[in-house]
Amino acid sequence: MKPQQQQINVSEQDTTPTVCPCGCDLFDVAYRHRVLPGLSLKNPSGHDMPIKVEVFICRECGCEMGKDGLKEKLKREAAYISKGSTIGGK
Ligand SMILES: [Zn+2]
Repeated sequence: MKPQQQQINVSEQDTTPTVCPCGCDLFDVAYRHRVLPGLSLKNPSGHDMPIKVEVFICRECGCEMGKDGLKEKLKREAAYISKGSTIGGK
């Protein structure tokens, strides 16, 4: 059960910005799709249940908010480069 979201009255000036490690503060909403297995004790239905998880993606570097953005991306790119380093084969 999700706790009910409380309605509070704030203006933008009351808040602090969430900024991606790359410096960008604009995010797009994206969804990560997961499945709650039917065997899970938290699943009363007994069937696999699709779960939609809302995440925010930095518009500048494409990293997910709160995921150490740029570092993750650099890691991904490093992995990609090392994978692609076997160029010259058949
Ligand atoms: Zn970013």
